[in-house]
Amino acid sequence: MSDLLPNCQLSDSKEGEESCPRPIHELLPLREAHIGAGLIIRRALPQRERRLIGAWCFLDHFGPLDLSKGGGLNIGPHPHIGLQTFTYLLEGSILHRDSLGSYQKIQPDQVNLMTAGKGIAHSEESLGGDVLHGVQLWIALPDEVRNIAPSFNHYPELPVHQQNSVQIRVLAGEYAGAIANPKIYTPLVGLHITSPEEAEIVLPIEPLFEYGVVVLKGVVSIDEHQPTLDELLYLGCGRGQLKVKLAANTHLLLIGGEPFKEEVLVWWNFVARSVDEISEATKDWQAGHRFGEVKGYQGMRLAAPPIPWESV
Ligand code: MN
Repeated sequence: MSDLLPNCQLSDSKEGEESCPRPIHELLPLREAHIGAGLIIRRALPQRERRLIGAWCFLDHFGPLDLSKGGGLNIGPHPHIGLQTFTYLLEGSILHRDSLGSYQKIQPDQVNLMTAGKGIAHSEESLGGDVLHGVQLWIALPDEVRNIAPSFNHYPELPVHQQNSVQIRVLAGEYAGAIANPKIYTPLVGLHITSPEEAEIVLPIEPLFEYGVVVLKGVVSIDEHQPTLDELLYLGCGRGQLKVKLAANTHLLLIGGEPFKEEVLVWWNFVARSVDEISEATKDWQAGHRFGEVKGYQGMRLAAPPIPWESV
């Protein structure tokens, strides 16, 4: 994904949040944007009150989109630096192409992980099927690896832990001894939790991690708090367990991680440490340098928005 919201704002992780708050239940409204062809995205991260959860620095929940009405997701070539893009689908399929020559279809229950490092460009297009529904997250890379060579990996199978009727797919990190393969660089976790029938479970979690929950479908209660589809439930650190109640056919995404210690600047599709780095990456993209070419995509590359701190 690319930052497609109408106002592309600079997000500075230094501003206005505790590094590791105690256990809390903070309901934060998602920003909603219609990005054409009936596709709605709901942005959970970053937001003013909460820039990061561990190293997770961006979370878009997109769809469900009815593809039978035409159109679909169609995001032309655009650049990234300093992050990993992490795509996971509930329904439908997306074709990923990038400037390394990767050409990869992703389907439900799979992960696409693109490590941008010093720079990569990619495109994303929905393929056939009636519905598209998924999430894209970004993971901030820590300083020692944020300028590494770019890479792309597809993970067709993720481990699943079954707890009564509840299925817990480990998308990143570890849960109950099940370790997900996606290569990550800081301690974090991502879980897709679902149940075909009404269920209640106690989920053991890591007290040193901060956590957040986004409902992807259905109705959920977390320690008696009920985030809607339009809210992020931020939970802070310091908890050993979560009490989760799910209505039948509910899907939720739980993300967590060790609080990220470095200041992070996010603007458009770049994660950096200074506005100068972002300016340089933007100019390199506009000049056709650094990021390479995404071959085979039928359409225009995305232009960077004007850089707000350089405009008169
Ligand atoms: Mn992208």
